[in-house]
Amino acid sequence: MNEKKILIVRCGEVALKGMNKPYFERILAERIRKRLTASGFDGADVKRHEGLIFVRFDRGLEYEDVAKEISKVFGVASISPAVEAESNLDAIGEEAVKLMLELIEKRGVKTFKAEAKRADKSFPITSPEIAKMMGAKVLKGCKVLKVDVHNPDVLLHVDLRHDKSYIYTDKLQGFGGLPLGTNGKGLILLSGGIDSPVAAWMMAKRGMMIEAVHFHSYPYTSERAQAKVEELASIVASYCGGFKMHVINILPIQEEIVKNCPEAETTIHVRRFMMRIAEKIAEKSKVMMLITGENLGQVASQTAEALVVTDSVVKMPVMRPLIAMDKVDIMAKAQEIGTFETSIEPYEDCCTVFLPKHPTTKPKLERILQSEANLDVEALVAAAVESDTIIDIKGI
Ligand code: ATP
Ligand code: MG
Repeated sequence: MNEKKILIVRCGEVALKGMNKPYFERILAERIRKRLTASGFDGADVKRHEGLIFVRFDRGLEYEDVAKEISKVFGVASISPAVEAESNLDAIGEEAVKLMLELIEKRGVKTFKAEAKRADKSFPITSPEIAKMMGAKVLKGCKVLKVDVHNPDVLLHVDLRHDKSYIYTDKLQGFGGLPLGTNGKGLILLSGGIDSPVAAWMMAKRGMMIEAVHFHSYPYTSERAQAKVEELASIVASYCGGFKMHVINILPIQEEIVKNCPEAETTIHVRRFMMRIAEKIAEKSKVMMLITGENLGQVASQTAEALVVTDSVVKMPVMRPLIAMDKVDIMAKAQEIGTFETSIEPYEDCCTVFLPKHPTTKPKLERILQSEANLDVEALVAAAVESDTIIDIKGI
């Protein structure tokens, strides 16, 4: 590996992990390796060093494209395509000039400002002096360039370390979070809406592995509606890796509810069944918690009272990562992660099939329990769990 081009990956929160830092860094490096291989950038040399991760290849590649791929790995704070130089001012200056000449040609850069950071404090010159010297060498080597300390076209950084130094101009932001696989596994209740894919993504970003369950009311809901959910699941899987999706027809339960319970309570009853079934599936799959896209006050079934009634039916912790977000922010997140366009496709969801005209917004648990006494809850849940069909969602 004698390419001078290299990618510097900064680890964000992983850096704060104290004694567990090597564990998190190792998993993060593995995730980067895996993602690069899966996206066709195989043969990467991925090394951890002094709290950073360095990625390089022994062949010429567009490092910007590689950086984009790495930016999707949870736990990555930012990435900079860089050039490596020996830790002496001549070598640093020489590489800085080459890098800036390239940028003049590629982007028409006219102004710059030099900045230096010295991880190696034993180096005899201070950071501002290093920046000044590097700046002077660049001015000499790139006649068209000028220094602009207030509004430069590029910031030219040098990160001076004990053995090697790294020179770079760009910083691509990652999502942050924690490496996938460092925080258990959750079962997302995945509908075709905007919220639940975002909820899954947010938990995966904190290192949680994902499994999913989707409820449909076929033939009231169409095959196309299910295909849409599979598509959403695939987008989520492009961040968190492939996962199992349990698919369950909840229509027999909805029909029982409609027959035996007050119309205004329909959605709350359906929600309670969804949670019960999800918990059973989670237990079977050795998943430790449930995840939903619920959001306080968004609809009748998500008022504070309704959430209490829904929540009380399961023992397992229920993660609701969107609970306090505003819809506009959830939508912006959906746009950012690429699920929005699919989510807004107009296919019916099982919840809309028997939507009451005037749903109760302040359900009382005692009332709900009274109506539920008309149903054979256990048998209905058991039959639903029995009918579980598992789909393999492919992902990176
Ligand atoms: P979303 O945009 O995710 O559909 P929503 O705003 O439509 O959410 P609800 O339909 O009330 O809200 O559902 C709340 C949550 O319940 C969803 O975020 C999801 O976690 C779960 N849920 C709803 N419908 C289904 C379904 N058909 N299959 C699985 N989970 C569902
Ligand atoms: Mg929905």
